[in-house]
Amino acid sequence: MKKTILVLPGDGIGPEVIKQTLRVLDVIDTDHAFHITHGLIGGAAYDQYQQHFPTQTEQLCHQADAILFGSVGGPVEQSHHNKWQDCERNSILALRQTLNLAINMRPAKLYPALQDISPLKNQRLAGCEEILIIRELLGDIYFGEHRQYNHNELRFASDLATYNEQQIRKAAEYAFQAARLRNSKVTSVDKANVLATSKLWRTVVSEVALEYPDVLLEHMLVDNCAMQLILNPAQFGVIVTANLFGDILSDAASALPGSLGMMPSASFGANGIGLYEPSGGSAPDIAGQNTANPMAQILSLALLLRHSFAMTAQATQIENAIEHVLKAGFRTVDIYDEGYNLVSCSEFTDQVIHALTL
Ligand code: NAD
Repeated sequence: MKKTILVLPGDGIGPEVIKQTLRVLDVIDTDHAFHITHGLIGGAAYDQYQQHFPTQTEQLCHQADAILFGSVGGPVEQSHHNKWQDCERNSILALRQTLNLAINMRPAKLYPALQDISPLKNQRLAGCEEILIIRELLGDIYFGEHRQYNHNELRFASDLATYNEQQIRKAAEYAFQAARLRNSKVTSVDKANVLATSKLWRTVVSEVALEYPDVLLEHMLVDNCAMQLILNPAQFGVIVTANLFGDILSDAASALPGSLGMMPSASFGANGIGLYEPSGGSAPDIAGQNTANPMAQILSLALLLRHSFAMTAQATQIENAIEHVLKAGFRTVDIYDEGYNLVSCSEFTDQVIHALTL
C-alpha cells in the first residue's frame, strides 16, 4: 500500500519552498510509492476556516504516515491582526501537541563550499562539520499557562514553565542514541544555577547517562553555550536541551553555516509519525519573491525519506545533490558572495534536480 505524505505549506515562503521540494520528490519517487495529500494551516487556513489548525487538517494529519511542513505566521508587526494573532501557537504548537511530537532534531551542517560566508572566521570553524541539536518539544514555557493581568495598577505577565522527568528522559535517550551513532559526546544545556526545571533536567539527564557509559556527557549553562557556539563550535557534537533554549540555540547554530534557510528539522512522536520542516519561520520579508533558499525544505524531505521510510539511499542522493550544487557555485541571495552564480529559489532547485539526474 502507498504511504501517505501530508503536505502543509502554510504561509510566507512556505508555499514557495514546498513547491520546489515537491519537484525534487517527483524526481526521487520514480515508483510513485507515495500518496500526497495537501492541507491548510496557519494564516492560509484562517483565510478559509477562521481557524489556524482546522479539524479538516487535523484529520489529514491522523491519516498521514509523514508530514512535510512549510512554515506559519505573518509579519511580526501584524501579529495583532486576527489572522496572525497566536498563529504559531494555534497551528504548529497545537499540531505538535496533537501528534505528541516530543523530540525535535536540527542538524546544523557546515558545508566546505560555504566556509567563506560563515560569519565566523575559518579558524574558528576548523574541525566543525555538523552540530546536532536535540530539542524537547512538548514541555517548558511554551505549553504552560500564559497570563497577562493587572495588580495594584501595574501590568503583569507570566508564562509557566513545567517539565516532568519522562519528557526529559525521552529527549536525553534520543540524544545519547544519536551521539552513539556519531561517535560523539552529548552536551546537555540548561540553566540549573537558577531554574527548578533545569535542576530536574540536569538530574534526569545524568541518570540517563549511566545507561550510556560509552558516551561522554557534559553539562553547560545556556548562557555559556550561546557564547561557546560562536567561540568554539567544533567542541559540540550533540546538544540536548529544553524547548525554549533549543529554539534559540538552534537559530544561533543555523547562522554558523551562513543562513537559517539551510537548516532542516525533524520531529518525532510516540505514534511513529514524523513531521519535517525548515528550522526557520515564514520569512515574510522575502515571501513571494522566489528568492528564498529552498535548502532547508528540500533537506527536510531528505530527513523524511530517511527517518519515516528508511529510504537512506534516496535521502543521501538529495543531500549529495545539494552539496554538488553548492560546490558548482550556485547561491541563493542569503548565501551569495561575489563571484558566484546568484540564482532564485526555483533556479537553485533546477540545479538540484539536474544534479540528481547526473
Ligand atoms: P524567520 O525565521 O521567518 O526569518 C528570520 C530571518 O531569516 C529573515 O530575515 C528571513 O528572511 C530569513 N530566512 C528564513 N528562512 C529563510 C530562507 N529559507 N531563505 C532565506 N532567508 C530565510 O523569523 P521571523 O522573521 O522572526 O518570523 C516570521 C514569522 O515566522 C513569524 O510570524 C513567526 O511567528 C513565524 N515562525 C514560524 C515558525 C514555524 O512555522 N515553525 C518558526 C519560527 C517563526
